[in-house]
Amino acid sequence: MGIVVAKFGGTSVGVGERIHKAAKSIVNEYMQGSKVAVVVSAINKTTDESIKLVKESVGESVTDKQLAGILSMGEMQSVRILSATIESLGVKSEYIDPFSEKWPVITDSDYLEAKIDREETKRRVDEHIVKLLDQGVIPVICGFLGRDSDGCVTTLGRGGSDVSAFLIGHCLGADEVVIVTDVKGVMSTDPRKLNTARKLDKITVEEMIDLANYGAQVLHPNALRYKDPQIKAKIISFEYGDLRVQGTDIIGPAHPDDNIVTISILPEKLSIIAVVGENLMSKRGVIADITSKVAENNLTVYGISTGESSITLFFKKSEAIKAHEVLHDLVIQGDTLSSLSLGQEIAMISVVSHEFIDTPGIIANITNPLHDNDINIVELSSSQTAVVVFVDWNDGEKAYELIKETLQ
Ligand code: ASP
Ligand code: MG
Repeated sequence: MGIVVAKFGGTSVGVGERIHKAAKSIVNEYMQGSKVAVVVSAINKTTDESIKLVKESVGESVTDKQLAGILSMGEMQSVRILSATIESLGVKSEYIDPFSEKWPVITDSDYLEAKIDREETKRRVDEHIVKLLDQGVIPVICGFLGRDSDGCVTTLGRGGSDVSAFLIGHCLGADEVVIVTDVKGVMSTDPRKLNTARKLDKITVEEMIDLANYGAQVLHPNALRYKDPQIKAKIISFEYGDLRVQGTDIIGPAHPDDNIVTISILPEKLSIIAVVGENLMSKRGVIADITSKVAENNLTVYGISTGESSITLFFKKSEAIKAHEVLHDLVIQGDTLSSLSLGQEIAMISVVSHEFIDTPGIIANITNPLHDNDINIVELSSSQTAVVVFVDWNDGEKAYELIKETLQ
């Protein structure tokens, strides 16, 4: 039997009865032979309530260091209660908070959004947590919290106990990370916004990261950075009081080193086509007309962007003549679009990194060196994890090298 990291969110330990249920599910798993390490959040809305109290009492002058210290009390409380409940069921347990000698999560001193020192944390997990598991003790570790090199408490940012769970799972080389929460799993969309939402049996890490980044609340977007492909992971509801219940399995990632920046240049030449018309933003169905026309003709679009009076599309150069023809047909058939142009040869450079989520100024980092070298950017598009830059074909290699130099 393997190592399981079980993380309990605030609601799943929201009242005494739920804490008891959580403890029982942990002890059950342990009795079936697993080594169980527990990560727990603050009970219910404790963190929100502390923030409100501080606002009303101290006000704006509170320092980050003070606030981190105050917020840490939520998790300092919940680990003690949960650990004592586990012990009441007859199994040895030890709570671990940032003041414990055995505390594993080490960070920098950015008190409210601390960055994790992966190496030091791994070393301390090996030294302390593995030992407890081997002794048959169930460690109950504060989620959300860290400790800096001066011994001060830090926090990993709101919702950070998901990060704690996957981080500890990674350091332990766990077999499974189980996130116990107040929903049955990941839903196809927010059920409060659309009542046809249904639970997904599985989702990939890549999909989950994008879902979280665009606002889904189930899991902290940074948590999955620490998910190794071989570690099983799932999100389940606390209601069943059973860690083996089915929820949503999180699969992957397919490319575990996506954490570093990958920069690539498309080896083929692209061509740019600009379709022009008046007030395109306010006209319905224009993009649909264009993309269905393109799809009907089996053409692949490498990029599309929309503006007030034009829509630009990128095709492989070898398909551009055909694309030009079929889009021209579309333009002359209706009166929304007036004309189109087939432009120069284009190089496409993609920069992909999950680090983009919390790196301010990343686009400037990419575009500044191009500007300094007089390279004109024909088009740029960005999402949470990728930036795609289109430049003139003759500038392609140079732009690629410049971006590589700055980012790697
Ligand atoms: N208690 C912290 C918060 O509310 C961390 C967490 O629950 O993940 O943000
Ligand atoms: Mg949470």
